[in-house]
Amino acid sequence: MTPRITLVRGDITRESADAIVNAANSSLLGGGGVDGAIHRRGGPAILAECRRLRASRYPEGLPTGRAVATTAGDLDARWVIHTVGPRFSRRDDRSELLASCYRESLRVADELGARTVAFPAVSAGVYGWPMDDVARIAVETVRSARTSVEEARFVLFDEGAHEAFTARLG
Ligand code: ADP
Repeated sequence: MTPRITLVRGDITRESADAIVNAANSSLLGGGGVDGAIHRRGGPAILAECRRLRASRYPEGLPTGRAVATTAGDLDARWVIHTVGPRFSRRDDRSELLASCYRESLRVADELGARTVAFPAVSAGVYGWPMDDVARIAVETVRSARTSVEEARFVLFDEGAHEAFTARLG
């Protein structure tokens, strides 16, 4: 099955979903942007579990393109799925790594049994990707995924992001 794709403009930390995806960095120890917002609103339980994951499974950090789940703490969700997007580079094409973030997040969601998954525009902030590229890769990857997730909801923080995703869905 491929998930139904929905678009919402807003703050992902206000969403209700089985799983909320975080655009984390490989340290898993928090950062700015959506990562900071998720930890702020989700409370300390998320960071505590991230620290345990660092100490046990990912002593060198979570590799780019991979995803791992923790509790969602105080968020209106059961899990947060942390994925590490690639930084944008003009020199090498890192699209496959960005696609991998969406694919791996859906794979982790499947393992958990999550049916609704909310995604931010991974790598479109501090990591510098053009929003149109993120929208294209995100939509193509989710559309070609085989997963039990029923709804993939892109939660776009600003009007430009919402327009870019709307244009891609066509
Ligand atoms: P990255 O480091 O992967 O680029 P950022 O958090 O800097 O991650 O940005 C990713 C995208 O998430 C950007 O488009 C940014 O505007 C958006 N964003 C920031 N805060 C939120 C939020 N609370 N809810 C949804 N999207 C957000």
